[in-house]
Amino acid sequence: MDVPVPTSFADDPAIGRVLLTEDQLVARIREIGQQLTDDYAGRAPLLVCVLRGAYVFLTDLARSIDLPVEIDFIAVSSYGATTRTSGVVRLVKDLEVDLTGRDVILVEDIVDTGLTLRYLRRSLEARGPASLEVAALLARESADLESLGVRYVGFTIPNDFVVGYGLDVAEQYRNLRFIAVYDPDAAPAAD
Ligand code: IMP
Repeated sequence: MDVPVPTSFADDPAIGRVLLTEDQLVARIREIGQQLTDDYAGRAPLLVCVLRGAYVFLTDLARSIDLPVEIDFIAVSSYGATTRTSGVVRLVKDLEVDLTGRDVILVEDIVDTGLTLRYLRRSLEARGPASLEVAALLARESADLESLGVRYVGFTIPNDFVVGYGLDVAEQYRNLRFIAVYDPDAAPAAD
């Protein structure tokens, strides 16, 4: 059977500068995995993946943690099909695991305004976990990580909208192996 050839993004004008290469991403995620392995030694944390953007980060991160982790998924929506937040966070899919007494690590793709994170933190804290920490692959320079309580961050990035490695625009580009700046003005006009 023929193996399908991956779609090439090389000629896509909307994909701009590569911000983070696959090698950079993999190396940094291994470091965070090691840090979590050390910090949670003797415990069995529950990784809560925020769908959909964090799914690639989660798979690499989970495999870099040398502990008996459990995984569950939650889905929220605040962007629709645009590059601008609607300002309203909506729970689209809830967790299945009971958080009571668990050491929860919330796995996020990017902390931008912090709106999503504030919503999720409130919702998860109300369920009585033993602890709740946040691991975000990306954070905007403008995000106040201290007040948002984000302990683990992969990379701090400027204000450009980015795609790849799980991050999308209108559900596209999640399967890019790197993170690139998305330039909507270079994209073909929508009908
Ligand atoms: P916040 O609520 O403003 O912090 O936005 C967080 C969510 O918005 C993330 O979990 C992403 O799903 C989405 N988001 C924010 N910035 C970007 C981006 O540059 N590319 C893709 N998605 C983004």
